[in-house]
This record gives sequence, C-alpha cells and structure tokens, in this order.
Amino acid sequence: MGSGARTASYARLPFVVGVARTVAPCKAVVVYASRSARGQVDGLGVVCCDCGAPGFLLLVSANQAKTVVREKKYQARVFGMRSIDSIAEDYVERAAALDPALATFAGIAGHDRELPDLSADGFAERAELDRSTLVALHASEAPGLREQTARAAMQERLAVAVERYDAGDTTSDLNVIDSWVQYVRELFDLMPTEGEEAAANIAKRMAAVPEAYRQFSQTLLGAARNGRPPARLQVEEVAKQCAAWATPEDSFYGGLVKRLTGVPDSLRGELDASAREATAATARLGGFLRRELLPLAREKDACGPEVYARASRHFLGAAVDLAEAYAWSWEEIARLRAEQAQVSSLIRPGATREEAVAILDKDPARRIEGRENFRAWMQELAERTISQLHGKHFDIPEPAQRIEAMIAPVNDGGIYYSEPSEDWSRPGRMWWSVPSGLDSFATWKEVTTVYHEGVPGHHLQISQSLTEQENLNRWQRLMSWVSGYGEGWATYAERLMGELGYLDDDPGAYLGMLDMQMMSAANVALDIGVHLELEIPKGTGWREGERWNAGTAWEFLRAHSSWDEKRLRFELHRYLGWPGQVPSYKLGERVWLQAREEAKARAGSAFSLKDFHSRALSLGAMGLDPLREALPRC
Ligand SMILES: [Zn+2]
Repeated sequence: MGSGARTASYARLPFVVGVARTVAPCKAVVVYASRSARGQVDGLGVVCCDCGAPGFLLLVSANQAKTVVREKKYQARVFGMRSIDSIAEDYVERAAALDPALATFAGIAGHDRELPDLSADGFAERAELDRSTLVALHASEAPGLREQTARAAMQERLAVAVERYDAGDTTSDLNVIDSWVQYVRELFDLMPTEGEEAAANIAKRMAAVPEAYRQFSQTLLGAARNGRPPARLQVEEVAKQCAAWATPEDSFYGGLVKRLTGVPDSLRGELDASAREATAATARLGGFLRRELLPLAREKDACGPEVYARASRHFLGAAVDLAEAYAWSWEEIARLRAEQAQVSSLIRPGATREEAVAILDKDPARRIEGRENFRAWMQELAERTISQLHGKHFDIPEPAQRIEAMIAPVNDGGIYYSEPSEDWSRPGRMWWSVPSGLDSFATWKEVTTVYHEGVPGHHLQISQSLTEQENLNRWQRLMSWVSGYGEGWATYAERLMGELGYLDDDPGAYLGMLDMQMMSAANVALDIGVHLELEIPKGTGWREGERWNAGTAWEFLRAHSSWDEKRLRFELHRYLGWPGQVPSYKLGERVWLQAREEAKARAGSAFSLKDFHSRALSLGAMGLDPLREALPRC
C-alpha cells in the first residue's frame, strides 16, 4: 500500500507508543494504546504500518508511551524498542510475582508469604508472561555482543517453556522429585528460621499450602481427563511422600515449627494452626492421588517420543540427535568400564571393580559413622577445595568462598545444591536428603559428590553468575538455569579435578569419580532407552535386542552403580518420572568438553585453561545451543 493509506491507518490510532520489528508478512508495526480518562494507558494494540493488519502485543511502559506520543512520525521507532536488560528486569519482577516459589528459589525477596496460583489459570498466566516477553525480545534492541548473547539465552528458554505449556507438559507434570508437590514443601527448607519475621512468613506461607495443593489437584485431574495422565508408579510414590511428610507425630510442618527460633508467644498459636492445616492438606493431597488420580493413571512409565523430544530440549537447551546420543552413551560406557578396570587394579593388583568396591567399602579409614560427622566431613572437604583452587585454577569471587553442607530435613534420598540468595544473606548450600536407616557413609564415593555440588561444580558456576553484575542482566544472574549447562558443568568438574591432580593420591576417590561418571553415562542409555522404548544394541553383551522397560532399567542401574539399594531405588523412580533430565549431565559434559577442544584449537599455544573457564562461566547459564554460538565470540 502507498503512504497515503499508511498515514490514514496511523492517524486513526488513539495513542501511538512506538514502532517495532515484527513477524512476517509485515515488516514493521505501530504499537498504539488507548488512554483511560485519567490519562493512563489502559490497552495496547498493534497494526502494520504498511497494510494496517493487526499484529502482536508488545510490552511498553507508560514513560515510553509519553516520549513517543510527542513524536509525530516514524522516528518513534527508536523509542518503541526496549533494551534486553529492561525486558529481562521486568520479566524477573513479574515472574517472581506470578511464581513466589521461583522467587524463593532464586533468592528474590518480597514474596515470602505467598505460594503460586497452581490452578489452570495460574499456569496460563505464567505462560502468557513468557509469550509476551518473547514478543518483546523479538522486537528489542541488541546493539552489542553482550546483549545479543543475553537475548539468545532468554529466547531459547522462554520458547521451549511456551512450547511445553502449549503441549500440556507443564500442567500434567507429576513425579517424585521435581513437581509442584515437592516444590511447595522444599520452599520451606530455603526460608530463614530465626526471628519474628521469619516465623510470620512461614506461618503465612504454610497457611497457603491447602489452597495451592487443592488447585494443583484440580489441574492434574483436568490434565488427566484431557488425555495427559501421569504414570501409575509416580502417583503411587508421590502419595507415599505425602504420607511421610504428614505423619501425625512426625510431620514435616510440625518439625519445621519446632526448628524455628526467636518466635514470640503471640505467633505460636498461628504457627501451630497453619502447620496443622498444611499437614492436613498434604495428607489430603496423598488421598486425592490414591483415590482420584490413580484410577486415571497410565500403566507405562515411558513418556513417548513427542514429550521426550520437548523435555530433552528443555533440559539441554539444545536439540540433540537422540539416536546418536543413545549410541554414543554405549561407547562412553565401554570406555569408562576399561578405565574402572585399570583403577581397580591400583586398589589391589588384579582386582575387578566389584572386588575393589568391596575392599573400599570395608576399609574403616574410608567410613564415617553418623550423619552429623558425615556433614562435617563434607563441609571440611568443600572448604579445603575452595582454598586449594582459588587463585591457582579459578579466581573464586569473595562471597562465593562460603558454602554450607546440610542434611536435608526429609529422607527421600538424593543430593542437591541450593543457590545463594540475591543479596548473599542465604549462602550456597549442598543438601543431602539421607534415606531413613542410613547412618554409615563411605567417603570414597562422595569426594566427587562434593566437587560436583560445591567447587568447582554447581557452587562455583552459580555463584560466579551471581557476581557478574556488569556482564549479566538480572534474569541471567537469577533465573537462567539450564540443566545441560549446569549439570554438564558440574559433571565436567568431576573429571577436571582428576585432570588437575586432586585425585592422584587416592585411587579410591578416583574410582568414586569414575563410578559417578559411569552412572551418568549409563543414565543416558537408560533414560533415552526407557522413554523411547528402544532396543538394547548388539555388541553390548547385555540383553541385546530386548526393549527397555522399568525392569531392565533397574537391573542396568544395579550393574552400573555402587550406590546402596535404597538410594538407587529412588534414583530409578526419579528417572522414570523425570524424562530427559538425567542425560543432561553427560550430554552437557560432552558439549563442555567439545567447547574446550574448540577453544584450544582456536587459541593454539596461547590457550589457558583458567582463562577458558573464567570466560565461559562469565557468560552465565544458557542453553547448550546458544552456548555453542556464544563461546567462540567471547
Ligand atoms: Zn548436579
């Protein structure tokens, strides 16, 4: 259309806000707003400058609107575009408000008394924020490399989130480790427990548990009736978790109230009442799962190729050829098995891995009795590692030099890291949720765990991002978590400690590292195999030609890990219910190693490992695809 038509459509708009680039077929749109009687922007719309076709919505602020409305012509373009950092800043604020759980995990203050809306509408609202932010990012200015990297990182995360929401993955998710049932409880582990304000926050938040669980039950029920039922095993196991947290004389919330210190008498009644309500709601949720959801559950653990492909992209931040990754995992298993055999004979000449493990497990010098003694051992090792690495292999920022080893207040099994809060008042912590009955610990297996969770693993990576005030925007520092990047880095860090010589004087700890690596490699084969119901390939010497299922997965896991049965059983349930997550460790490590090789090739003799690590970590967490693009440019 000619300029006359453009002027005409432009002139009809009530309140022009700006111009931004847009999707095909139109090249540019005018963003306009209607104004309320009080002069505030109360509605936004867009229209193509060329053809007048309606476009998408763009996030704008009232200030930009005012600036732009004074402009009569298309120069408004400049003002209509927002910077990546301001979009990111806005997103953090709004995402924290829509999801106070995310706020607590990210250590953002101000939402400590709330829980998210877990109704279908609540999920829709959060997806809408992702969607509109994507549009804003698309139309944003990214003048330099730093902004372009930030934009690519955020676009990748939000796009896959929107896609998973639209496909119904997000609202149907129920598993033993990473679903809303656990988030709601785990939030309380991260909250301060000392003083009046802490107690008041906890009381209010506990009082919100019944509504959150009621909403979540309805959301799950709706998803199941709409063709997205959870797997039977996950429903049964989560119901058991609920029952364990709601044990009348030993409930999680009752125990939490007992741990609070400095509580004024005036708050006691409220705390006890809301702990009782939260406990009852947890028990009710368990009952709902057994009675109402279980009859709708699917028998199969396998999630199937479509869900799996999205899940894999979500956890890796990269589209990976799954058939290639599956084949590669078997090669990696064979390579590690040969290495295990070598190291085992250092423990006793000619010993097999199983014999070496038995020797190490029996060695009293490698055992610690009692949970508190074990916690203290982890703490001491983590601190020693920080002081050994700092200045030599890494420059560890000052606030990141503090880490706390913790025994988690529940007994589900599993070890995890929780990040520092934005203001560092809450330090980075590694938690071990020790299975009940376990009170004796073999240290040879856990040296690598401390490297993985602490330094140079998760704690270093996450803390370093948090200190990058200059290079990273607030979303990158606080909300960008990608399993393939973070777990990939922590898995890379396990072997790195071997490469740097820290496992040289102890073949036991070296074998422990290889065991962790073996488990990560085995889990790539297991996870892809089980969820896509693949065949076990020829030449592996184990159930060749058979198809994976939960039974073969258990047998495989027992054969590839030295963990005790209780912990391993939890791991199996976790893999079956959390498709795509566990391959992100080894597949992420693979990308980190490839990236290092590429950096070496680029730099030649000038290559410095310390410098490579420092530059790579200062980019902040992002999907592995954007990371591959960003690394050669940084
Ligand atoms: Zn990890």
